[in-house]
Amino acid sequence: MANSTTRVAGDIAYTLTRRRVKNINLRVRADGSVAASASRWVPAAAVDAFVVSRAGWVRDAQRRAAARRAAEDAAPLPDKAQALAQMTALCRQYFPLFAADCPGGVLPRITVKDMRTRWGSCSLKTGTLAFSLRLLGTPAAAQEYVVVHEFCHFAHPDHSPAFWAAVARVLPDYQQRRSLLR
Ligand SMILES: [Zn+2]
Repeated sequence: MANSTTRVAGDIAYTLTRRRVKNINLRVRADGSVAASASRWVPAAAVDAFVVSRAGWVRDAQRRAAARRAAEDAAPLPDKAQALAQMTALCRQYFPLFAADCPGGVLPRITVKDMRTRWGSCSLKTGTLAFSLRLLGTPAAAQEYVVVHEFCHFAHPDHSPAFWAAVARVLPDYQQRRSLLR
């Protein structure tokens, strides 16, 4: 980012980004790094002082982020080939319901990858459904929900009421299934 600078306040290193925000925003990212944003009218020294005043909160948030990363790293990743076979089988099962919406009317390309922030994604452009490797550790009911969710994006690229109505038509209990992923 062109308008970001790295600063040190007390013993906390952080990046300061100038943005049109009302106050000073401070956050600790998942990797433990610290980011502040403030409008260009706030002197950098005032942002430094704010960061120092929140030092206790920053350290707590960094500790929590480190614990989350350690827990994620400790959990072994499922076997990729096994995950791909499983998700492909599920996609084949539900494909007939969505064939008319899929690009070219053919079974989408299916991939699995190590996605940490989402369970699946749907690319209209390439006609690809991608699934998180971590889905393999979830109940089948949840996997089916993710497959139907991503298939529904071919007709509804957003999360509009029409999208959720389409999901509910195939899986009336989708909300219970979705709760299994949390
Ligand atoms: Zn979605």
